[in-house]
Amino acid sequence: MGKGILVIGSLNMDLVVKSRRMPGPGETLIGSGFRTVPGGKGANQAVACARLGAKTFMLGSVGRDDFGAALVSNLKKSGVQTRYVLRDGRESSGIAVIIVDATGQNSIVVASGANARVTPRDVERLGSLWNSVGFLLMQLEIPIETVDCALRLARRKGVTTILDAGPARPIPAGLVKKVDILSPNEHETATILGSRVKDHDVAAKKLLRMGAKAVVLKLGAAGCLVARPGESVRLPAFKVKAVDTTAAGDAFTGALAVALSEGQCLFNATKFANAAGALACTKFGAQPSMPTRAEVDRFLGH
Ligand code: ADP
Repeated sequence: MGKGILVIGSLNMDLVVKSRRMPGPGETLIGSGFRTVPGGKGANQAVACARLGAKTFMLGSVGRDDFGAALVSNLKKSGVQTRYVLRDGRESSGIAVIIVDATGQNSIVVASGANARVTPRDVERLGSLWNSVGFLLMQLEIPIETVDCALRLARRKGVTTILDAGPARPIPAGLVKKVDILSPNEHETATILGSRVKDHDVAAKKLLRMGAKAVVLKLGAAGCLVARPGESVRLPAFKVKAVDTTAAGDAFTGALAVALSEGQCLFNATKFANAAGALACTKFGAQPSMPTRAEVDRFLGH
């Protein structure tokens, strides 16, 4: 087993309901198929890491409510160490209300709740845990100053940093400089650069110039592109029957961290991630769709 992975990020309960169409203002529709599905980009990626065989620790925050208990219990079931998941007495657990219409389109409202209260102070309290991990994996669903603080501390401790730049939000230039591997999807890349992405190579170069040591662009059904100064390689997506692409990016970034933590080179790690992302598209939901190590190995013919 490689070095441990620390995930600092969000936990959300996804409240999913199907509706023929989206309601208009003031309108009530009768939907169907209501489900609660554990999600949140941080928790999704922690589950991905643990299912793929890494020793995984999570720092995040949930409310003292039933959703919080269910979210923590689901992490534990997947093998994630939850000692550092805080229970906030003032805020509810983070939730996402997701309406899926007959065409498969999503409309989503997120209430961050306790996720918005993960502070730099919580990161500073991690203490000796830093000695047990080789990689820090983060996303942008918790306060940006907390992400920044964790990146700074990780650098000081010699821990490699991976930032999944989702959900899309502008990030300060100074933050990118502290990232070893930056992994945005196409929309997030445009948000960081402040302009539409016309050429993936050019976009990756711009992100490298902002200070990331390496960039792994997630390109949906077009696969991914991995770039370091002076080299870039494009990997086509694996062909699968996609039924729900929710959290494909989370499976991808989690898998990237796992392969790197096992000492694989960046290009092999990206191939492994590309396979995990594809497999996540073949199942419904966020955390339930994260593939296991056996599934990815079988898929890659190992
Ligand atoms: P996000 O989920 O963050 O929007 P993407 O949609 O870019 O990210 O998907 C992440 C990764 O998942 C892709 O880089 C690719 O490896 C894999 N993937 C996504 N959609 C498909 C698909 N339709 N077929 C195969 N692989 C896919």
